[in-house]
Amino acid sequence: MFKITYQDQYRDRFLKSGPIHFSDGSVVTPGEIWEYLTTTAPRKYPYAFESNVFFGSTASNDVLLPSALKNTYLNLTLSERLDKLKAGGGHVAFIQGGQAVDPYTAAGFVALRPALVGNWNRGRSNGRSVAAEELGRKTDKERGYKNISFEACNTAGYEFIHEGDLPIDVVAPFSALRCSDISYSLEAHRHGRRKTEVPLFLADYPLRHQSKKEWAVEYFAENLRKMVKQFDRISGRTTTEKELSGAIKFHNKGRLLAYELADVWWNAKLPPTNGLDRSALFTMGLLEMHGDPIATLDVLSEALELVKERVQNSVKAPGVSDDPKRLFVCGSCIHLDEYYVEENGGIVVGSDNGWSQCCAFVEEEGDPFYNLAKATLSYSYEQSIEERVAWTVEQIRKSRTDGMVFLYNWGCNTQSAIARPIADSVKTRAGIPTMVMENELIGLKPEQQLNRVAAFIEML
Ligand code: SF4
Repeated sequence: MFKITYQDQYRDRFLKSGPIHFSDGSVVTPGEIWEYLTTTAPRKYPYAFESNVFFGSTASNDVLLPSALKNTYLNLTLSERLDKLKAGGGHVAFIQGGQAVDPYTAAGFVALRPALVGNWNRGRSNGRSVAAEELGRKTDKERGYKNISFEACNTAGYEFIHEGDLPIDVVAPFSALRCSDISYSLEAHRHGRRKTEVPLFLADYPLRHQSKKEWAVEYFAENLRKMVKQFDRISGRTTTEKELSGAIKFHNKGRLLAYELADVWWNAKLPPTNGLDRSALFTMGLLEMHGDPIATLDVLSEALELVKERVQNSVKAPGVSDDPKRLFVCGSCIHLDEYYVEENGGIVVGSDNGWSQCCAFVEEEGDPFYNLAKATLSYSYEQSIEERVAWTVEQIRKSRTDGMVFLYNWGCNTQSAIARPIADSVKTRAGIPTMVMENELIGLKPEQQLNRVAAFIEML
């Protein structure tokens, strides 16, 4: 466990990096980012600058990688930026189901998935220590159990929506295979206790060889059309097919950048970033993690160049061992404590959740709704166990993984049911050790994380 600080001696170097451009036309300079990270943020969010036993750290400890610090900046400013967006009349959709956010961008909505909804709400409380932050998370979770169901994972942050804490304009998830929380939460919102009523839209996602069935693609494309019309009713604008095609081209840029970055990272002799930053940079390919796709694309573009430079110069990220054991993580809405893994001689080199969407490029010519439906129905994460395993084994080979860990949250009913068959098939087909582990989203990291992960790395 350690504190993260950015010392003054690295300031000038950071100032040589580029600014971040935002969707509203504003720009933040490296000087302003540095000032925020060294003065404002440690006062507002002291817990974020500590590697701790509850939720790890959201701040990067790699002061020599400007993109990592910019990712930290975007994480920590999410809450204030979203409050500003809403105050200025912007629109926010709550999403769930692992989708790419192209249609939300086209309709002028910011798409926020579970973790981001929680970050938005938590970011409004300032000055919390690690213990106070943890108590806050526990209290929020308790509200979720009461308002929705104690059987659901309550990862999503619906409690903030039910209680009217956050001004969400629409709840618009996809009924994909991955997530059982969606059905609990949508029904709880439709019929249960709630203080505010938010419009609901469920995009109905066909299952089982879905992308290979013409009727399924057309049916899902129709769902996407209806979803965009629902957004237009809320915002009062008309989203055109041309705008959706533009959004697809824009989001393809993010997916391609992340794909190239993964290729460079996975083929490097030494890990060029730590696991926390790698995960953030790969996920940025979806351009939705910071509530601002333009700012995210800016940081990701710069990151690719910086990571290439590190690889060319054989620079290893700080805190990573010389020959770390490489882990691949499977499962939804969950991650290992990356700093803890690195303290124990490992590094997380990839994960399936999120990455499968990033790998699904959308055809740019033709009907954009159809193309988007086709790509969305082809996500490897949402296929049958056999197809998901085949894709996972391919990623494991590309990333030169030594061992796979399948994690699932308590209450994540699909992932918990398929964890074992996936882990066993990957073990046979990739020829690497695998481990399955349940987790609970809040509280002291379970002994499982603290003991079994270290033992698994030692065994590898
Ligand atoms: S942990 Fe599982 S059930 Fe919960 S939100 Fe994530 S995918 Fe859905």
